[in-house]
Amino acid sequence: MTPALEIRGVRFGYGDLTAVWDVSLTVPRETTVALVGRNGAGKTTLLSGVAGLLRCQSGSVLLEGDDISKLPAHTRARRGLSFVQEGKRILRELTVRENLVLGTFGRPASRKDAKALIDQMCTRFPPLAEKLEQPAGALSGGQQQMLAIAQALVNRPSLLLLDEPASGLAPVVVDEVLALVSELKREGLAILIVSEGGEELLSGVADEVAVIDQGHLVLTAAAHEVTAEDITAAMGIGPD
Ligand code: ATP
Repeated sequence: MTPALEIRGVRFGYGDLTAVWDVSLTVPRETTVALVGRNGAGKTTLLSGVAGLLRCQSGSVLLEGDDISKLPAHTRARRGLSFVQEGKRILRELTVRENLVLGTFGRPASRKDAKALIDQMCTRFPPLAEKLEQPAGALSGGQQQMLAIAQALVNRPSLLLLDEPASGLAPVVVDEVLALVSELKREGLAILIVSEGGEELLSGVADEVAVIDQGHLVLTAAAHEVTAEDITAAMGIGPD
């Protein structure tokens, strides 16, 4: 079956600087791949490139078999790619509802469809339903992350890119986010999730793991075939 995402020998960077070198990686449908690496390894750069926020210096990116390498970010979103960027969670001054409505703009949805999608998110995330008309800035950190993910989901993605969705959250909220990722996978989404420490892998969320170091992919394996030690060794971090 055509994979949800196929990255073929891509290079991405900033101006003259190349930060990701000749990376090839496949995310099959209904599969979660954890992209793990140290600070500055190139994780965010790879996701930003796949989402269309950086120019592809070489190689190609295929979404469900179609080459999207030259398409702008908004067209990729329209084709079913949703990217939840680290930190850039939501627009704090807008209400929760307005943030969700913004998420529906990626794909042309009728007003009725948009309302149905927002209702679905309210059922899925009761704390958001309770605060629907309040400024998003009034939500807790964990709820803001849930809103960022809900905003990505109303785009009806086939591929979800999540950049460190657990960063800065309390451990109990991290567990909630990881449970949500597992649920989305069960529902059929393909997910590429970035993690610094590989906790997604260790908590059994990821099916596959890819380790990136200094812009190069240094390990790809089925999650059940690697240990935390294999991953840290691949990241170039030795035991204390
Ligand atoms: P982190 O865990 O800190 O987010 P990362 O693995 O996501 O790290 P990137 O943010 O992709 O790493 O950074 C990869 C390289 O690209 C680093 O050397 C970084 O300094 C550089 N870089 C990142 N963003 C920019 C930018 N806007 N302009 C220039 N260089 C950048």
